[in-house]
Amino acid sequence: MTQAALHTLYLVTASFLDAATLSNLETAHSKSAETLLTAVEQISREGLAPFFLPDIFAVERTMEKVASKTVVQPGPTESIIVNPSLELCVLSTSGCVDVIHGLDAKTCPVPGQEMVLVWKKSGTQKAAVAVAKPEDLAAIKIVTDGVDPTSAETEANVAPGLVDILLRRALHKGILLSPASLIRRRCQDFSGSLCIPEEHLSAEVFTLQWHITQDCDLFCRHCYDRSARANMGVDKALDVIDDFHSFCRDRHVRGQISFSGGNPLLYPGFLEVYEQAARKGFAVAILGNPTTREMLDSIVKIARPEYFQVSLEGLPEHNDSIRGHGHFQRVMNFLEILRAVEIQGQVMLTLTRDNMNQVLPLAEILEGKVWGLAFNRLSPVGRGAALALPDPAEFQDFAARYCESASRLKVLSFKDNMLNAHLAAAGKPLFGGCTGFGCGAAFNFMALLPDGEVHACRKFPSLIGNIAAASLGEIYDGQAAVRYRTRSEACRECSIVATCGGCPAVVSGLGLDIATDRDPFCPGPILLPQSPATPAS
Ligand code: SF4
Ligand code: SF4
Repeated sequence: MTQAALHTLYLVTASFLDAATLSNLETAHSKSAETLLTAVEQISREGLAPFFLPDIFAVERTMEKVASKTVVQPGPTESIIVNPSLELCVLSTSGCVDVIHGLDAKTCPVPGQEMVLVWKKSGTQKAAVAVAKPEDLAAIKIVTDGVDPTSAETEANVAPGLVDILLRRALHKGILLSPASLIRRRCQDFSGSLCIPEEHLSAEVFTLQWHITQDCDLFCRHCYDRSARANMGVDKALDVIDDFHSFCRDRHVRGQISFSGGNPLLYPGFLEVYEQAARKGFAVAILGNPTTREMLDSIVKIARPEYFQVSLEGLPEHNDSIRGHGHFQRVMNFLEILRAVEIQGQVMLTLTRDNMNQVLPLAEILEGKVWGLAFNRLSPVGRGAALALPDPAEFQDFAARYCESASRLKVLSFKDNMLNAHLAAAGKPLFGGCTGFGCGAAFNFMALLPDGEVHACRKFPSLIGNIAAASLGEIYDGQAAVRYRTRSEACRECSIVATCGGCPAVVSGLGLDIATDRDPFCPGPILLPQSPATPAS
């Protein structure tokens, strides 16, 4: 072992030693790697090195060992496992991890036992190191002992869902490893000549957009469904959460429930259902109408939503003509309340011929007041059929202005797949499209209606099943769902098909066939040797 190599392998340890001591250590190390720890302990006892140096060295040595391991994810039929590279170091001083991370230059480790985890994340070269928290050790024990989450929660008398949350955090850190997601595009959905990046083939998160009630305090002119649908009872709603939990567990994905409506907050028992969803470990979001500060406080007390989305349709006059008098100001006031309670606010706009030129002026108003403003084109179904879609040629100009303005107006978010068509044609990096995977209808996303009907996407009639007759898993695997998640034949050769696919809700609303027709707003398939896509945002 040369001095340079010693510096490379045990950089932090070496930084505490003078040249002569370092040279002596190299001599020890040249005989046997194991003798080095004894030598470090010896010089520490002699006062030639800090008392905590043996612990620093022990961690660095473990990092070296862990970094040389190969980490393989469990197979699709296996369960969650403890990362096989994981090592536990029991130290006699605490604070060494901060020193190794270079975080704590002023204070030194202090005597006192501390446990440190060292592991290698899948797909990385270097070892990660962190102080072992009780929640990490609990997650490891749950997996090692094969503990059933529900009985563990009952025995420990802790909130339902806590075990899931512990496991999810440990998976996120990489201490535990989950089998690869089974929410994956089929090869036959794309032309064999396309090279689709792996991150666009497989989804780690699945969203259930739950239109939990049709009840609404607004009566918007473009609403895609005002049909009468009975609410399911709270007991049934709680069963849905259990069903979705099984779905996500079986397919190795994290679940998100986006509560929508109608106005989801008008569902009797909303807070109870929301609480159960959060307790089960799901990420939760709300797509609704402005509400009171008191209601938001109650929501945050249970769990802070990932975001709260409200809708605007353009500048005040136009918006209020669609959504009702005074609505624009109500939303602006509500966005302030969202900021006050630190909930990420998002604004969604349905793009029509009449509001296309209002989007950028609206963005100027919203800049700095809300996290994002996004649009999807009108789906000309339901009451929305009475409104007009933009002219496709004018839409291309709009898309160009939108993309250009996004560098100045940070509020502009990218959602509609047709923006990807514009970006690709301009040779610019793509985003994930409507759901992170282009059209995600019945792929990484399903819509559940109040009466139990499940649709591929709520923006158009796309029935794929009913929870009264089948589980969400059975519905997802059914032929109807497969049909909706299969890309149109017209997109098969397009190099951005994985992050686009057009919008079947628009295609269907215009009386076209989603299996064979292309989105009429598509400027034409992008024929590149391979997709220029960057990872989905
Ligand atoms: S049909 Fe697909 S692209 Fe259109 S809104 Fe639904 S998920 Fe998005
Ligand atoms: S051909 Fe299909 S995937 Fe390609 S840009 Fe057009 S709509 Fe999008």
